Amino acid sequence: MLSAQPWAFPALMGVLGLLTGSFLNVVIHRLPIIMTRQWQAECAALANPEMAAPVLAERYNLVVPRSRCPHCEHLIAAHDNIPVLSYLLLGGRCRHCRASISLRYPLIELASGGLAWLAAWHFGAGWQGFCAGLLTWALLALAMIDAETQLLPDGITQPFLWLGLLLNSAGIFTDLRNALAGAVCGYLLLWSVYWAFKLTTGKEGMGYGDFKLLAMLGAWLGWQSLPVILLAASLVGAVVGISLIAFAGHQRNQPLPFGPYLAGAGFIALIWGDPIMGFWLGQGGAL
Ligand SMILES: [Zn+2]
Repeated sequence: MLSAQPWAFPALMGVLGLLTGSFLNVVIHRLPIIMTRQWQAECAALANPEMAAPVLAERYNLVVPRSRCPHCEHLIAAHDNIPVLSYLLLGGRCRHCRASISLRYPLIELASGGLAWLAAWHFGAGWQGFCAGLLTWALLALAMIDAETQLLPDGITQPFLWLGLLLNSAGIFTDLRNALAGAVCGYLLLWSVYWAFKLTTGKEGMGYGDFKLLAMLGAWLGWQSLPVILLAASLVGAVVGISLIAFAGHQRNQPLPFGPYLAGAGFIALIWGDPIMGFWLGQGGAL
């Protein structure tokens, strides 16, 4: 039925993306806090094994407690939590205290819906289109979390690495052999760059999260996508990094997160990987 109307599946994924975007806002805000609390609890338990960790007393996860206005602490009702629409209807302000709501919430919802629509439109109705949407949402969350906190949570990269291998055991994006090689090479590539950089300069250029993210992308898209991802990520990263240093007074030795560029490049490889590689190989053949 969905394939009879070519617009229906992308529209469905777009709406699903808007709803998911609302959840991604929670994930982006809470996951780093959850991770930090876990580390604090672990450190406290190591330092003083007899004491029960007090930080674990209050329940805090992706579902509990419910979202509140950060300004007046009023619970946000379900009808005020409709993606994008609620923001527009409320004029970007809290219903109770009229404090302004950050524009990033509707923007992330729009990005989540728009990118899922694009992926679904590209792949068409079916498992490929649906799974491309899942990967897109994971990449969006990872990019935002890394940009804000310089963390790439294992809680996202690890399950999505396994999911990529599992999906490709059914040949959704590539075959299992390519996926396995992609995961291993993705990790080892950045791991080698990290150690080469550390041994020659004594500094850490990136984190272990970056290796895991590239391993995850390799598991989804196969080892063939790794050159496209690395090239696109480095190009965009260099342009943004140099402009930040030149125009925004960013310190040269202050680390820039690489994750958002890897995630963006992963999306580019998901949608345009084949034509980019074809262009490349075509040029190579012509030379
Ligand atoms: Zn309020």
